[in-house]
Amino acid sequence: MKKLALHTQILIGMTLGLIFGMVCLEFEGLSGFTLDFIKPIGTIFIRSLKMVAVPLVLASLIIGVANIGDVSKLSRMGGKTLGIFVLTTVISITVGLSLVAVMKPGHKLPEETRQNLMSLYDSNAESQISAAEEVKTRGPLQPLIDMVPDNIFFATTQNGRMLQVVFFAILVGVALLQVPKQKGATVLGFFNGINDVIIKIVQYIMLIAPYGVFALIASLIIEIAGDNPEKAWELLYALLWYTITVVIGMFLMMIFVYPILIRYFSKIKYLEFFRGIRPAMLLGFSTSSSTATLPVTMDRVEKQLGVSEEVSSFVLPLGATINMNGTSLYQGVSAIFIAQAMGLELTLSSQITIVLTATLAAVGTAGVPGAGLVMLVIVLEAVGIPAAGIALIMAPERILDMVRTMVNITGDASVAVVVASTEGELDPDFDKKLTTEQSS
Ligand code: ASP
Repeated sequence: MKKLALHTQILIGMTLGLIFGMVCLEFEGLSGFTLDFIKPIGTIFIRSLKMVAVPLVLASLIIGVANIGDVSKLSRMGGKTLGIFVLTTVISITVGLSLVAVMKPGHKLPEETRQNLMSLYDSNAESQISAAEEVKTRGPLQPLIDMVPDNIFFATTQNGRMLQVVFFAILVGVALLQVPKQKGATVLGFFNGINDVIIKIVQYIMLIAPYGVFALIASLIIEIAGDNPEKAWELLYALLWYTITVVIGMFLMMIFVYPILIRYFSKIKYLEFFRGIRPAMLLGFSTSSSTATLPVTMDRVEKQLGVSEEVSSFVLPLGATINMNGTSLYQGVSAIFIAQAMGLELTLSSQITIVLTATLAAVGTAGVPGAGLVMLVIVLEAVGIPAAGIALIMAPERILDMVRTMVNITGDASVAVVVASTEGELDPDFDKKLTTEQSS
C-alpha cells in the first residue's frame, strides 16, 4: 500500500485526536488514561522541537551570512538585499500584529475558558508576572545589552537566550567572509554539515508529528473542556478565527505589499510576475519547504522573469534561508493569539519585542516543514508567554505551514526581482520569453 503523505498523516492525527478527545469526555476513566499515557507523546514532540532550536539557528544563520560570498559584495548587494528582507519582514509582522489586534481571535474564548487555560499553565503565569515586574526596573537600553552574550556556551544552553545565539551566529558568518578561504572552509563545511544533520533530525521529529498532534489535541480537549464539552467547541471556534486572521494577513502580503514593491522598483506587471512564479508557489504550498522549492524558484525567476543568474543565485538561496515573510507574520499573530487566549496582557514593549524576535526568529527558521513552529517557541519565551501555549495552535499548523511557505517563496522572488531591477540585472525582454513560453 502506498504510504500516505506526511501532511495527510498529520491531518488524520489531528482529526482522530479531536474525535478521541471528544470521546474521552464521555468516559471518565479514559480521560485519566489519556492524560497519563497519551499526553506524554505530545510533550515529547514539543520537547524534541525545542531540542533542535539552538543548533538549527546557529548553523543555518552562520551559513546564511557566509553564503553572501565576499566582503565587497556583502556591503553592496548584500546590504540592499538584507535591507529589503528586513523591510518586508517587519511589514509582514506589522500586518499580522495589526490584524490580530483588530480581529482578537484569542478573545473569542469566553472568560471562563480562558481562566481554565490560565490555571493549566499557572506556574508559568506566575513566572511571567515576576518577569514583568523585573522588566519595569530595567534601563531603556537593556534589550540591546541583553542581545550580547557574556558567555556564548552559556547562551546556547537556554532557548530563552536565542537572541544572543543569533547575534553570535551573525558575527561568525561575517568573520567567515573575512578570514582566508581555506581556513574558513573547514568551519563553513562543519556548519553546513550540522545544518544538514539538524534538518534530517527535524524530518525524524516530523515522523512522530501525527502521533504528537493526536496526543496534543486529545489531551488539550480533555484539559480545556473539563466537565463541559461546550468549552472545547469554543476553543475550536477561536482557532478558526486565528486561522482566518493568519490567512487574511498572508493574502494582504500577496495582493498589496509585493505588488507595490514590484511595481515601484521594476517594470514587471504583477500578473506577469505571478504567472512566472506560480509553479514555484504551488510547489511551496504542497511541500511546505522553501529549500525543497528553491531549484524551481530559481529556474522560474531566471527563465520567466529575466532575473540574471548572478542575482538569482545570490538572493534566492539566501532568501530561502533567512527571508520568511509568511513565517514571521504567522509567528507574530500566533504569539498574540496565545497571549490573548491565556488572558495575558502584553505591553507595548512586549509587542516591540515580538516584532524584533519574530524578525530574527524568521531569519533563523530553516526552509523545511514545521520549522516556523520551532522558532515560535523563541518568540514566546522572549516575552514570557508559556511555550506550552503552542499546543493551542497545533491543529491548524500544517495548513498554515503550507500557506506561509507559499508566501515565503513569493517574498524571496519579489526581492530577487527588485534587486535585479535596481542593479540593472533584469532582462528587458523578459515578457517576450514569458509569452513564448505560454504559447508553447
Ligand atoms: N515551512 C516553512 C518554509 O520552508 C518554514 C516554516 O515552517 O515557517 O518556508
